[in-house]
Amino acid sequence: MFRIIKKSLRKGIVTGTYPESGMPAPEISDPLKKKMKLFKRSLTIREVDTGSCNGCEMEMNALINSIYDAERFGIQIAASPRHADALVVTGPVTVNMQSALKNVYRMTPDPKVVVALGDCAMNCGMFKGCYAVTGPVHKHIPVDLSIPGCPPRPSEILESLRTLLGQK
Ligand code: SF4
Repeated sequence: MFRIIKKSLRKGIVTGTYPESGMPAPEISDPLKKKMKLFKRSLTIREVDTGSCNGCEMEMNALINSIYDAERFGIQIAASPRHADALVVTGPVTVNMQSALKNVYRMTPDPKVVVALGDCAMNCGMFKGCYAVTGPVHKHIPVDLSIPGCPPRPSEILESLRTLLGQK
């Protein structure tokens, strides 16, 4: 136990010391800025995987660890789309997930925001042309913000979401 305490003291406080993304801030359109005003300073997210390789989810999961700690910026994860303000969709939309994506979109209360996370969600990425892929997310539901990368780093996701919230 003393070994753990000593290690913690040596390491110091790590929360909030995540590396800067270096990615240019995403452009937020005026209608989207207007919509975001309704959410004030917080955003509850439901993550939807429509056929990803799980790389984007792993980076998204990092947002709730003690280094990125997205909750201190008002960003929370919901267990149900009925409790969400925003859907973060990862992966290309596969044949088996296209109706599920549309159902989740319908179940999320208005007003809502849709974020396409990663190259696959934006343009099918490395799965483009695959027999099981029906297209990118915007082909199925309206997308408000896209975050490029394969996968995007947690700092890029966090900074894009904070830009969306008007915190950057
Ligand atoms: S963008 Fe890259 S990491 Fe994300 S689902 Fe596609 S292949 Fe995987």
